[in-house]
Amino acid sequence: MVDPTSDLGEDVDESDAPACANCDEPILQSPTHRVVTWVEDGAVRHRHFCSEECREEFGE
Ligand SMILES: [Zn+2]
Repeated sequence: MVDPTSDLGEDVDESDAPACANCDEPILQSPTHRVVTWVEDGAVRHRHFCSEECREEFGE
């Protein structure tokens, strides 16, 4: 069986909307939704942001 969410990190609850890492707002089909991914200790990590502004405020 193919898991369509397998490219998401294990720290995200796929059954729920992701929350913005900066302001904690749930992100529901937002056109300004941003996902930042990086590699840490050999694993792909990611964070969701509701907007470019929040991504910049978070500072990563
Ligand atoms: Zn936000």
